[in-house]
Amino acid sequence: MEPIDILLELIELQRLDSGLDSLEKIKKNFLSDIAAIDANIQSLKDTLQTEKKGHEELMKWRKSQEIEMGTLDSHIVKYTRQQNDVKSSDQVTALGQEIEKSKLAKAAIEENILETLMKEDEQKAQIKKTTEILAEEEKRAAAEKAEIQQKIADCNKAIADKHQERTTQLGKIEEPYNRGYENLRNKGKKLAVVAVTEENNCGGCNMNVPPQVLHEIRQKMAIKTCQCTRYLYIKE
Ligand SMILES: [Zn+2]
Repeated sequence: MEPIDILLELIELQRLDSGLDSLEKIKKNFLSDIAAIDANIQSLKDTLQTEKKGHEELMKWRKSQEIEMGTLDSHIVKYTRQQNDVKSSDQVTALGQEIEKSKLAKAAIEENILETLMKEDEQKAQIKKTTEILAEEEKRAAAEKAEIQQKIADCNKAIADKHQERTTQLGKIEEPYNRGYENLRNKGKKLAVVAVTEENNCGGCNMNVPPQVLHEIRQKMAIKTCQCTRYLYIKE
């Protein structure tokens, strides 16, 4: 094979690899779209859980207030009964003060309970709303994800096809250029074959290409590499 033909095959191989890189990138974007959809659903679930927990805590607190009120009620009954039993007016007055204190405390608790019940109603409405939003979003997410997954499947198919093409193309390139190209790609160099720039620099690492090397590339005498080991060609 003439050096120029090897170079052309290398450039074609690189074109296929660039296509593969783009496909992989597209696929990665689809995967992150799916992750974003999942994260959104999770965040709604977390919100709902927080709302439910807040509601349960408030209910629990209200129930403790109701118990407290029951205790005050029984105190009032007890003091009233005692008032009938005691003889001295001082004792009657003292018990009367206790009854009054208990009644005031009961009234305050009653007000608290009323307020809490209203807050609980608000919480219930909010939980209902969040539950509905979550259900809607889950439905939408399922549809969107199915669509994206189809696109990922298409990508996978295209990637498999391109890999096949690439294997065939690599087979056309003789030693040691096939290995050299693979080494460059495996080292993470996206471009293994680069054009010499107008300033006579390597299109990969930007190092100057010596005149002798340029001359040999122009004469199509040999395949030349830059010091960065990339294959060099001159755009006609
Ligand atoms: Zn270079």
